[in-house]
Amino acid sequence: MLNYHSYETFSTQDWPWIRMVFFLQGCPFRCLYCQNPDTISTDKNKQISKERILKLVYKEKEYFWKDWWVTFSWWECLLQIKELIPVLKLLKQNWIHTCLDTNWFLLNDDVKEALKYTDHVLPDIKWMTPKLHKKITGTDNLTSLDFIRYIDEQWMNYWIRYVVVPWLTDNKEDIKKLWEYIQTLKNFQKINLLKYHTMAIPKWEKLWREYPLKKVPAAWDEDIQKVKAILTQYIDKNLIQ
Ligand code: SF4
Repeated sequence: MLNYHSYETFSTQDWPWIRMVFFLQGCPFRCLYCQNPDTISTDKNKQISKERILKLVYKEKEYFWKDWWVTFSWWECLLQIKELIPVLKLLKQNWIHTCLDTNWFLLNDDVKEALKYTDHVLPDIKWMTPKLHKKITGTDNLTSLDFIRYIDEQWMNYWIRYVVVPWLTDNKEDIKKLWEYIQTLKNFQKINLLKYHTMAIPKWEKLWREYPLKKVPAAWDEDIQKVKAILTQYIDKNLIQ
């Protein structure tokens, strides 16, 4: 059984293709700009079995044009990796494409086993400098970077995701470091730039917690264009989304 927060039957936001997305409960990170602070706790929320997941996916089949895509997303699917393996296996047995979207804070035998039943991976790079990454998320990024290297060496399909936060992750030095890392990968396919937004502030207030980035404005198209312009000095623009 997976401990989950919610699911979306027709998700197009931030993802490639139409997907059904299951948001799992619990996250070891503590991002200053967490969009879902209510889902970080690992307390038992709602439980769902692999059979129920399959049933729900079949129910939505008319939405899927050609391929069925099911994504398991933060918050944070690797925390339940042992429970996730049989779910991924079952979906693959039913010819359903699977995708994992996580921060990849873990790389052990269970994760490697789960990847055998995963078609697409969406690894996140939150910040390149380990020290600053710790400041923004509460943990360093060394395992996440090792993880990306692992899936790269396995020739898996993956798109790196990078959240553009004005004043924090949009400066030339960080973007250059990002590229220096990408340059060492053999099978880099695409980087997906995501806009930081402030829609989570009411959720933080509801939890009686002060939002740490109150003074940081949401990212606009210009912010994405600014990062794109820096990245295109190094990467083909067709590889940036
Ligand atoms: S990884 Fe996602 S869910 Fe976890 S703290 Fe960061 S933003 Fe929140």
